[in-house]
Amino acid sequence: MNEQELSRRLARVGAHVPKNARLADIGSDHAYLPVALMLQEQIEFAVAGEVVKGPFHSAEKQVRKSGLTNNIVVRLADGLDAIEPSDNITAITIAGMGGTLIRSILEAGKQKQRITGSERLILQPNIGEKTLREWLVANNYTIIEEEILEENKKIYEIIVAEQQTPVKYSEQELLFGPQLMKNPTDVFYQKWQHELAARKRVLKELEKAEKQPVEKIQELQTQIQWIEEVLA
Ligand code: SAM
Repeated sequence: MNEQELSRRLARVGAHVPKNARLADIGSDHAYLPVALMLQEQIEFAVAGEVVKGPFHSAEKQVRKSGLTNNIVVRLADGLDAIEPSDNITAITIAGMGGTLIRSILEAGKQKQRITGSERLILQPNIGEKTLREWLVANNYTIIEEEILEENKKIYEIIVAEQQTPVKYSEQELLFGPQLMKNPTDVFYQKWQHELAARKRVLKELEKAEKQPVEKIQELQTQIQWIEEVLA
């Protein structure tokens, strides 16, 4: 992967960034995504935010090498602190992290008023999609698009959200993804077959315990039932 040719995962994240967006890519590492989108003339301006010095310097180097210092600002900052009001950001990408971390970045950004609610969020959690969807719903976001894909034997989900008329989602939709459930693909079935087996293994272990965690067991039993229904 490089700034000319993104991994399939990052290319699909980029595909959900609206044309001429003013993008904030948080956790930007080599700034591959904003640089590639700028070279493709897909975006107008970008902030590449990084909290760790090594990846921050790599991002700076990449932007300089690509001759894009006028269009992409690289900032060493924690989460959405990378965004300044004058950036007029219209889309935010946060990819390649756990859902819990993405959720906490969004929550901190909301508390500090770094986001207005008008930005499109394009999120690619490596795990913990449910907790992220719960945050989105609690904050009046609608999940407008979702994607699931496999790359190098790993399965990734992309969640695209905007604040629109609030929608109520069922617990099953929060687990499986409201848009993914509508058009389940082979990769979706593959993921949930794997998840079903994993949950059954955990349940078996918990049931053997001397002091059984009743709530956890009930939660697993319910989810196993939902997964079996989705796979049926
Ligand atoms: N977004 C790129 C991608 O999807 O390929 C890079 C993913 S990399 C696994 C995660 C990056 O997020 C790391 O460079 C890490 O330093 C950065 N990161 C983690 N927590 C962050 C935070 N709170 N604020 C900004 N960057 C963060």
